[in-house]
Amino acid sequence: MAGRIGHFVGNKRVAGMSGRQGDVTNPATGEVTAMVAFASEAEIDDAVQLAKKAQVAWAATPPLRRQRVMFNLKGLIEKRTDDLARMMSLEHGKTFDDAKGEVGRGLEVVEFSCAIAHHMKGDFTEQVASDMDSWSIRQPLGVVAGITPFNFPIMIPCWMGAMAVACGNAFILKPSEKDPSAPMLLAELFAEAGAPAGIFQVLNGDKVAVDALLHHPDVPAISFVGSTAIGEYVYHTGTQRNKRVQALCGAKNHMVIMPDADLDQVTDALIGAGYGAAGERCMAISVAVAVGDVGDRLMEKLAPRVAALKVGPGLDPQSEMGPLVTRQHRDKVMGYVDTGVKEGAKLVVDGRGLKLQGYEKGNFMGGCLFDNVTTDMTIYKDEIFGPVLSVVRAKTFDAAIGMVNDHAYGNGTAIFTRDGDAARAFASGVQIGMVGINVPIPVPVAYHSFGGWKASIFGDHGVYGMEGVRFYTKLKTITARWPTGIRSGAEFAFKARN
Ligand code: NAD
Repeated sequence: MAGRIGHFVGNKRVAGMSGRQGDVTNPATGEVTAMVAFASEAEIDDAVQLAKKAQVAWAATPPLRRQRVMFNLKGLIEKRTDDLARMMSLEHGKTFDDAKGEVGRGLEVVEFSCAIAHHMKGDFTEQVASDMDSWSIRQPLGVVAGITPFNFPIMIPCWMGAMAVACGNAFILKPSEKDPSAPMLLAELFAEAGAPAGIFQVLNGDKVAVDALLHHPDVPAISFVGSTAIGEYVYHTGTQRNKRVQALCGAKNHMVIMPDADLDQVTDALIGAGYGAAGERCMAISVAVAVGDVGDRLMEKLAPRVAALKVGPGLDPQSEMGPLVTRQHRDKVMGYVDTGVKEGAKLVVDGRGLKLQGYEKGNFMGGCLFDNVTTDMTIYKDEIFGPVLSVVRAKTFDAAIGMVNDHAYGNGTAIFTRDGDAARAFASGVQIGMVGINVPIPVPVAYHSFGGWKASIFGDHGVYGMEGVRFYTKLKTITARWPTGIRSGAEFAFKARN
């Protein structure tokens, strides 16, 4: 029997009251495993009011004590990694190993937040003028919200939630309605770690919940990660209401392969970065740009590997690639493959016909590999978000970097080469936020920061690291002089300080 998933408010699970709900399915079997409640505007408001009250005391809690809660959380997440990973595999479809890796990536940000007392300490200048000192401090914003996508149901809530809470805010998470179980467990772990009631809450839902947060006068900041169309809407709606908004969006990540690259290494990198998590990663490589004469040699190595991918349920240890998240998304990805063929690209490996015995209702497809893709084709321009890799040929390095720079998206990119000059010129000249040199998925560690350029982001500030501290706090600068007994009278004009 399908279970029921409500919300997590005031440190406990509560049932949804709106009467609206959605199906949660197991992508490997197509079976509906739970019904998830969709929050109403009134439910969002109740949670915000609770958060607003709780946040005052939380902001006044010494950062050292806040970071001890984050330490506890780190230990609890480590202990429950397998549970979190199993939940994600069953609702998202990704392999168990990949899901465990995701938990590890989220943990890195929790670890960073364990030193928040250090990261939030301000600047002090003695003697900005005679007998006058000045210091700057960072204070939390209040109640902040995070709207997250289906593809990283633990890592992205950790990016936002750990930073926001450690900085002294109350955080409301509106996770994807497709895989809400792991975020609900994360909320329980926050509570168990010592976060007071109202500091980390989960309100499940759809556009109604998102709009209620975007319009709420007591929510001054919104973090969003998801598709570009929705991110742009969230950014414009939020900023029109004078909110601070960061919206990290879609991607089309190119890997440039120079003729001198080690092709065995390149092939391994493309298989992992193109087909891992069935291509449902914002840092997946979806375009391989083969420079000079490397294309034919690359295809010879790549095609048999794509054809041999082991596709199966995420919890089967043999599976290298799981199903797509929903039937609708699988059909959309297949539709892109049809379009690629129609527009004249060469479909070298066709995964559309894949059938798995016993999993006929699952959202499976095999890996697809296109050659001779050109920049005017739909499959080159659009984010497909599936196991479809396009190989584009470029005559020169300049043509390759031009392609990357002309693309609308600017999340991640990589170059594979043995030539230091080419790598350096690429890293310096490429108009992309995260760059790998012989590293296919260059996701920055927690003490750097994550964020793309161009249509891959709206608003400013990466989502974690010191960029996250800046996003979730506001700056206050105090200038002070203690009376010395000498009164100089009122001063009506600015003076040079001395
Ligand atoms: P999505 O945009 O469909 O959903 C993201 C969130 O927005 C979800 O919580 C969803 O409930 C909500 N939402 C959906 N429709 C809405 C609407 N009309 N109004 C208001 N809110 C709405 O994205 P998704 O399919 O869950 O995730 C995949 C996308 O996320 C891809 O485009 C991927 O590239 C992107 N992504 C980007 C990053 C990054 O860091 N740049 C990371 C992960 C995923």
